[in-house]
Amino acid sequence: MVTPIHNTVRYDAMREHHHHVVCITCKKIMDIESEELDAIKIPDIIAKQNRFIDFSVHFSVICSECLEKAKQKVGV
Ligand SMILES: [Zn+2]
Ligand SMILES: [Zn+2]
Repeated sequence: MVTPIHNTVRYDAMREHHHHVVCITCKKIMDIESEELDAIKIPDIIAKQNRFIDFSVHFSVICSECLEKAKQKVGV
């Protein structure tokens, strides 16, 4: 589904730990898995006072399709 972060509290219960790449133009959400991101150190400010459960990283991008469309517009 193309909704803000899957638009639900069930937020990815069905998937392995993963992160999100969201196109700011068409709002398409792509799920990615990344060993680099999973290796991120949890900031002390979080770990100190809370029990850390999980995290996901959200990248805002302009996706390849939108880039392609933008190119076509400019090219006219
Ligand atoms: Zn897009
Ligand atoms: Zn997801």
